[in-house]
Amino acid sequence: MRGLPSNVYLKEVGPRDGLQNEKQWISTDDKVAWINMLSKTGVSEIEYSSFVHPKMIPALKDARDVGKRIIRKSGVTYSALVPNMKGLEYALEAGIDGASVFMSASETHNRKNINKSISETYPVLTEVIKEAKNAGKIVTGYVSTVFDCPYEGRIAVDDVLRVCSQLIDSGVDYLSLGDTIGTAVPTQVENLLEGLFPYFPKDKLILHFHDTRGMAIANIMTALHMGITRFDSTVGGLGGCPYAPGAAGNVATNDVLYLLNGLGVETGINEKRIQEASIYIQNKLGKTLPSRSVAYLKNA
Ligand SMILES: [Zn+2]
Repeated sequence: MRGLPSNVYLKEVGPRDGLQNEKQWISTDDKVAWINMLSKTGVSEIEYSSFVHPKMIPALKDARDVGKRIIRKSGVTYSALVPNMKGLEYALEAGIDGASVFMSASETHNRKNINKSISETYPVLTEVIKEAKNAGKIVTGYVSTVFDCPYEGRIAVDDVLRVCSQLIDSGVDYLSLGDTIGTAVPTQVENLLEGLFPYFPKDKLILHFHDTRGMAIANIMTALHMGITRFDSTVGGLGGCPYAPGAAGNVATNDVLYLLNGLGVETGINEKRIQEASIYIQNKLGKTLPSRSVAYLKNA
């Protein structure tokens, strides 16, 4: 199809964004085994855990052990979520190639999620970004609720632009734009990207869709047509957001892959291995994951 990129870079965020919202405890042994499976799928990057305080996200309280025990495959970037300097210290000790900092484009969501105002968040992140860069790490700035916020409704493009500019000025390598509650439609994607393109190169922008309304694939298609080549996803469509009531999981890696393979866009990912990793975590969680492709595999 005309106007599509030839290659797409997928970051598997299942072990972080996916598991952080699951009540079912997944043992460290099982996490390590699963991440090792993901490493063999051909995915470009794996966000393996989060170094936020264990009380905030009990499901990922073993981030340090996971980081130390996973078998790292060359060619795969291993990253983790890092909220502050203490988290960065632990993450560096456990081993990371990339550090992801995070904040929200919505003042209220930022307060609920981080317990700080947007302006109070910048100095904390700026210090983390600087230290992570000094340590030679790739730094991604997640910006949540770039389209809609569960508390404030529609978010203005200017508000997103302001947060993105601050993060870029602080030194992040990439911006990951999050449809945290999974409500955006393609026109919103188009409006936001048109607003950001004059200021940021396309290859610095990652799109992070949740699939609450089943719009994620349509939104990805829009972004692909606009030249975006980086997306976050989770195997099976795991995930949600504790500070965004009603939000569903991330777009499923399986479904994104089905789309990209069908379009003839390269990812380097083996679809069968993604299915195996989906079935593995689905069995550990004891519930059916939302990906249409996993359901298809089960019924095949
Ligand atoms: Zn997310």
